Amino acid sequence: MNFINSREFAQQLDTQDELAHYKNEFIFPQHNGKNVIYFTGNSLGLQPKRTKAYVDEVMNDWANLAVEGHFFSDKPWWDYHERFCEPLSKIVGAKASEVGVMNTLTVNLHLLMVSFYQPTKNRFKILCEEKAFPSDQYMLQSQVAFHAKNLGFDPKEAIVEVKRREGELNIHHEDVIAKINEVGDELALVLIGGVNYYTGQVFDMKTITKAGHDQGALVGWDLAHAAGNIELQLHNWEVDFAAWCSYKYMNSGPGNASGYFVHEKHHANKELSRFAGWYGHNKERRFLMEPSFDPVEGANGWQISNLPVLSLAPYLASVEMFDEVGMDKLIKKRNLITSYLEFILHEIDKEVESAEFEVITPANQEERGCQLSVYLHGQGRELFNALMSNGVITDWREPNVIRLAPVPFYTSFEDMYDFGQILKKLINK
Ligand SMILES: *Cc1c(COP(=O)(O)O)cnc(C)c1O
Repeated sequence: MNFINSREFAQQLDTQDELAHYKNEFIFPQHNGKNVIYFTGNSLGLQPKRTKAYVDEVMNDWANLAVEGHFFSDKPWWDYHERFCEPLSKIVGAKASEVGVMNTLTVNLHLLMVSFYQPTKNRFKILCEEKAFPSDQYMLQSQVAFHAKNLGFDPKEAIVEVKRREGELNIHHEDVIAKINEVGDELALVLIGGVNYYTGQVFDMKTITKAGHDQGALVGWDLAHAAGNIELQLHNWEVDFAAWCSYKYMNSGPGNASGYFVHEKHHANKELSRFAGWYGHNKERRFLMEPSFDPVEGANGWQISNLPVLSLAPYLASVEMFDEVGMDKLIKKRNLITSYLEFILHEIDKEVESAEFEVITPANQEERGCQLSVYLHGQGRELFNALMSNGVITDWREPNVIRLAPVPFYTSFEDMYDFGQILKKLINK
C-alpha cells in the first residue's frame, strides 16, 4: 500500500479498520482533556472497560456467598483457572490441556526449570541471548548456582550467550543455530525471549527449537513480549515449555498472573521433577486431603496453590476479548499500523534537520511484532520527556532509544499521524 502522511489518509485507514471500535473499549489516561497516544502496551496494557465487571463479580460473590463461592458462584473459584485453558491455547497455538495460569512470569519460569532444567555433570549448559531481560538473567544465574553446588560444574561456564555481531543490534538467526551446535552435547536447555524486549526482534522459534532438540537439549521460551502480539504455534513447534506475563499485550493489569505452557509429550512423564501443591492434584480427589500427590494430567498438573481469583478476573476479561477477535485479525492490523508508523517516522525524518530516526527493529514483518525501537540520533532524553508532557506515552531505554508499540486493539492510524506531527513540532521548537 502507498501510504500518505496526512490526517485524511490516516482517517481513511481507520474507517477501513474492522477493529477500530475496540479503541472505545479501553480506558485511556487523559492529557488536556484528550486521550493520550499510548505506545507502551508492551509494558503495561490499558484497562479494558469491561474488566471492572469481572472484578466486581468476584467481589460480589465473595460478599454474598463467602466460602460457598468456591463451588456455588456463577464462575466457581475452585476451577476458575480452567476457564483460561481454551482461549489461551488459541493465543499461543497449543492444546487446551497444555496451558495454565498461575503466579507471575519469573516465578513460573523458575518452577518450570525445576522440571526442564535437570543438568548433569556433563550436560549442564543453558543457551540464552546476550542482554536478555534482567529478570531472566538473574533467574538463570541463580538456577545454575543452585545446581552447580551439587553437581560440581563451574557456574561461570554454564550460561552461554549468543552475541550480537560487532556494531549490530539484532542477533543473527544463524548465529543462534551455530552456537547451539557448538555447545552440542553439553547443552541442557535453550531459553530465549521469543521477542527481544529491547529491539522487538522476533526469533525463529520453530527452527531454534528443532536445533536445540537435535542436540538433545530441551527448549523453553519466555514469551513476555510475544503472547498476544505475534503468531505462536507452541504445540506444532514442539516447544517443551514456555511462560508469559499477562500485563503487557494481554491487558490484565499490573503484575498480574502469568500463563504457561507444557507440551503434551511431557504430561505423563513421571521422571520429571516438579514442585507440587494441592491444586496440581487429581481434580476429583483434590478435597479428600490424601497424603500422596497424583498430578492432574496436563499443564494444570503443575499448579500449586489455590488461585488468586480476584487477580485472575481482569485476565479473564482480557482473554475473552482476544477470543472474540482472534489473533489473525490482530496480526493483520498490527502489520499495517506498524508499517504506517514506520512510514511516518521516515517522513518526519525528512522534514526535520536536527534528528535522524533509526528503526533498530528488523524491517522484515516476519521478524517483528508491533514494537518499533527507535534510535534517536541527534536527540536525547529531553525529546522523550517532551513527548511525555505532550501526551505521547513512550518508553525510554539507554542509551538513546524509545520503544513504540502501536497495539492493534486500541491504537488508531490517526494516532500515528498525530504522533508524527507532535514529534516534528517538538524537534523544530
Ligand atoms: C516483562 C518481562 C519480565 C517480567 O517478569 P515478571 O516476573 O512478570 O516481573 C520477564 N522477562 C521478560 C523477557 C520480560 O519482558
